[in-house]
Amino acid sequence: MDARRAIVVGAGVGGLAAALAAARAGLDVSIYERAPALEEFGAGLQLTPNATRVLAKLGALDAVRDVAMVPDAVSVLRGSDDAVLMQLALGDAERRWGAPYLAMHRADLQQALARVALADPRIRLTLGAPVASAATDGDLAAVEFAQGGKDAADLVIGADGLRSQARRQLASSQTDGPAFTGRVAFRATAPADRVDRRWREARVVLRLGPNAHLVHYPLRANSIVNIVAVIEDSWRGSETDHAWDGVADRPALDRAFASWSASTRKLLAAAENWRAWPLFGRPALGAFALGRIAVVGDAAHPMVPFLAQGAAQAIEDAGALANVLAETDDVPQALAAYSRARVARATRVQTEALRQGRIYHMAGALALARDATMRVLGGKALSARYDWLYGA
Ligand SMILES: Cc1cc2nc3c(=O)[nH]c(=O)nc-3n(C[C@H](O)[C@H](O)[C@H](O)COP(=O)(O)OP(=O)(O)OC[C@H]3O[C@@H](n4cnc5c(N)ncnc54)[C@H](O)[C@@H]3O)c2cc1C
Repeated sequence: MDARRAIVVGAGVGGLAAALAAARAGLDVSIYERAPALEEFGAGLQLTPNATRVLAKLGALDAVRDVAMVPDAVSVLRGSDDAVLMQLALGDAERRWGAPYLAMHRADLQQALARVALADPRIRLTLGAPVASAATDGDLAAVEFAQGGKDAADLVIGADGLRSQARRQLASSQTDGPAFTGRVAFRATAPADRVDRRWREARVVLRLGPNAHLVHYPLRANSIVNIVAVIEDSWRGSETDHAWDGVADRPALDRAFASWSASTRKLLAAAENWRAWPLFGRPALGAFALGRIAVVGDAAHPMVPFLAQGAAQAIEDAGALANVLAETDDVPQALAAYSRARVARATRVQTEALRQGRIYHMAGALALARDATMRVLGGKALSARYDWLYGA
């Protein structure tokens, strides 16, 4: 039996997927999560076929599908009057990209991955265990806990999100800090019975307007509608504020959508639990691993959400780890191969997500040109534009 052991820091989507990847490659895995429980953070997530394909490989797709909504399309609407600019049909997603396009609550995804992971006797999860640092320690990699004590293993996978401790091993603290992007995501859910029937259909709706956009779709067996509104705004919180759960500046949200269609404003009014999530970026890393330490997900490549790829890329990272750890017992060699397999693609997705944000938030003549182009291109051309991303 393989005696190798991995430590995973963080039990978000990236950490749980990475733990499954290491276990599937035969390693024993200890996950350390700082939160005392896997909580209801966040809101809806779309999981595109490039991610669900990896979940199938890790044996987690059925559990995730059970808690997911399967959208039949992404409809792009003009924010001012709900005119349809474009429609991406998803009915043939499995045929075209080889895996389903799903949407679910982040908490449901996390719980589903945790259920699959904890059913594997090789994986152990310790909650309430914040890791203060990770470092190479002779022929091992070690973590030190904030409350004292340490643990060492053959490798450490840092899946500790935007403000990763593990990432400090890979980048200079002088140039690598998180930087506010000037955009804030407002997230809420509305009870389905307060939302017009049209917006409860199994589809993702994307509304575009000047300097803002809105995404919504139904979740949890159509009992709630998930709403994400991204606006350009200042952020007055502190660096240590909980990135998932800031207090929403509701007047700023209402101002940003004041001139949008009545149906948009009605939808915003139907939700009560608005939380703000300031969007941060970090410079692209040249490598996602050094020696026996690797980073995955937001710890490696935090990205703006305009391509719906943050969690998807974390899951792709896990798929690559599963491959390299199964190929060789030499951990530094495996992690170097992981880094080579992932850096170019994840960096491209990071860059494309920023570009998509500029397109979504266009105003004036640029927005008119964008809308006209979308109408001419149509959904087929849109599907083809996503082949590089969803089909990989
Ligand atoms: C508005 C918005 C919409 C989005 N929509 C989508 C979407 O549709 N599709 C998509 O794929 N992605 C989407 N994303 C991105 C996605 O949510 C993130 O990229 C993804 O959740 C990152 O997962 P992660 O596991 O890398 O990090 P996190 O989810 O941040 O998890 C990190 C975990 O590590 C723990 N941790 C942190 N520090 C420590 C420590 N020192 N010790 C121990 N544990 C620690 C944390 O408590 C947490 O559990 C969206 C993001 C936003 C802001």
